[in-house]
Amino acid sequence: MKKNNVFKDIVEKKIPSEILYQDKKITVFSDISPKAPVHFLVIPNKIIPSLNYIKKRDKNLIFHMLRTAIAIAKKKKIYRTGYRLIINCNKNSGQEVPHLHIHILGGKKLPSI
Ligand code: AMP
Repeated sequence: MKKNNVFKDIVEKKIPSEILYQDKKITVFSDISPKAPVHFLVIPNKIIPSLNYIKKRDKNLIFHMLRTAIAIAKKKKIYRTGYRLIINCNKNSGQEVPHLHIHILGGKKLPSI
């Protein structure tokens, strides 16, 4: 069984967060420690521990997460100036929370990778 985590608690509103968007499948909320002027996280409502765990049956979910990230970029007016989507996976990437999430970063010139 997948253990609950802080992001699942956000989905279930057991802990406070600034939720920007939520539907039956996904939730978008502000990162508590923003690394850029615009920094949101897009997560599935169900627990997927990391990118390594996505299955074929999740393809609509993943597409929905990406389309929503683009919609958020438009809403937050970084669509034209540019933005970065990041998915960290496991220890060497710095993944802290074992619940798949896409970072949306923008609002300034981001350092090259
Ligand atoms: P990662 O390093 O890719 O696992 O990213 C986890 C992100 O979650 C970090 O940018 C944290 O600042 C953010 N974070 C952790 N706890 C919370 C929380 N309670 N509410 C919002 N963002 C959080």
